[in-house]
Amino acid sequence: MNERPLRVLMLAAEMVPFAKTGGLADVLGALPKALRGLGHDVRVCLPRYGFIDKTRFGLRRVLEPFPVPMNSGTEVAEILMTELDRGVIVYFVENAKFYDREGIYMYPDDADRFIFLCRAGLEMLRRLAWPPDIIHCHDWHTALVPNWLVTIYRDDPFFAGTATVYTVHNLAYQGVFGHRVLEIAGLARYEFEAPAGLAPKHQINFMGRGLFYADVINTVSPTYASEILTPEYGEGFDWLLRERRDRLYGILNGIDYEVFNPATDPHIAAHYSAADPTPKRIDKEALQAEAGLPVTAETPLIGMIARLSDQKGFDLLAQIADPLLQNLEFQLVVLGTGDEHYHRLLSDLQRRYPTRVKVFLTFNAPLAQRIYAGTDMFLMPSRFEPCGLGQMIAMRYGSVPIVRRTGGLADTVQEYKPECGTGTGFTFGPYDGLALLTALVKALANYAHREAWGALLRRGMSMDFSWQASAEKYIDLYRRALAGRRQPVAPAEFDEVPG
Ligand code: ADP
Repeated sequence: MNERPLRVLMLAAEMVPFAKTGGLADVLGALPKALRGLGHDVRVCLPRYGFIDKTRFGLRRVLEPFPVPMNSGTEVAEILMTELDRGVIVYFVENAKFYDREGIYMYPDDADRFIFLCRAGLEMLRRLAWPPDIIHCHDWHTALVPNWLVTIYRDDPFFAGTATVYTVHNLAYQGVFGHRVLEIAGLARYEFEAPAGLAPKHQINFMGRGLFYADVINTVSPTYASEILTPEYGEGFDWLLRERRDRLYGILNGIDYEVFNPATDPHIAAHYSAADPTPKRIDKEALQAEAGLPVTAETPLIGMIARLSDQKGFDLLAQIADPLLQNLEFQLVVLGTGDEHYHRLLSDLQRRYPTRVKVFLTFNAPLAQRIYAGTDMFLMPSRFEPCGLGQMIAMRYGSVPIVRRTGGLADTVQEYKPECGTGTGFTFGPYDGLALLTALVKALANYAHREAWGALLRRGMSMDFSWQASAEKYIDLYRRALAGRRQPVAPAEFDEVPG
């Protein structure tokens, strides 16, 4: 195998420290750094959302504004850049019409906005005279790129040596739009027409195109990679994933050990480590005070931090909340934002149990770190979980995870066995309230055994969830993609739409 350093361009919608709604941003913040550490030239391209402060991040213009083909006309892109520590170069695509807004997603023109990002990113590379070995696309926002490379860019010598890798961070968000997006992407219809079953008729499914056309596909944990081959987890694409399983891999995410470190975290009240976790009790007191809950060292404090969506198991919590709170002694702190339905549900719980439950309905990264540091246990009863970072961050901060055994949660949390002194948390299998209740009862009962609990907490803190091992696996993946590049698609193949 060719061992020369690789040139990799990552295209994504989110990246820490610039823009974040969930784990995708954490991965983009940490993986490029780890790959740079292995000697590869990894660069990232994302939108310059209006809230990304040019001065604070030292953004400077690198190219003259240039036209990007869009919707049978053009739109103008400017490219700004900055360099992060470890030499990760980040390019920002600037266009006030598309990105000068308060949020990241959920706009009626999201298809246009991300088509523009990707097309501008590809055109930028040519202008920078920087042909990449790999274009690494993340989630539906960037999933049309593998499609383009085998169609509209297929005869372009600039991309002749480029392979595509498509990472699915969450199969549930697919980017489904009407046929109008074909015109926006400026493509002839035949080049875009989906094979049978790829999307409902007259709908364009971005995710499906990434899965279908990428040289290599991966998702963010080995267990999720096998779960999505089944109808239960496949979100309508299990058939396609089974067809392409020889190109499908699962690589566990890591967490950024510099950001998430209880020994140095600037946002927490007291620093501690696996060698001496005792100062953690100060973080617990501080969190109880911040949450307006009674400050008591003995009461177990459970934390939850998540997007408030159906995926995260809040409905299970709702099923058992009353019997749980009425019969067991604990406090609960929740940080999250999302579906209105869950905002109401959690606010109602706080109203009915004001000395037991505190809910922060906001997005606040420093507060998240105080919750990881201040809680005794961390709850993630997810319906499905591609990888999950919360449980890993929690373990790093000595907050013992209670999780459903699915996806990356199954790969990272081992069931605690008090009799053997092994394991790192509490797990349950079936997606039902009783199974969750049983796991919580077990965790709370074990909390009373202070010495054994201390050992459990330290075992979690000593796990290695850094990016090092996973970054090496990504390099293997890139080399596989280069070795097995997909053949360009002959237009005739899609002249007739099957089905
Ligand atoms: P997902 O990517 O599905 O949202 P992950 O567990 O992979 O879930 O990653 C979630 C990341 O977002 C973690 O870093 C978590 O701490 C963070 N996070 C989620 N909700 C919030 C919030 N309301 N405030 C601050 N951080 C949050």
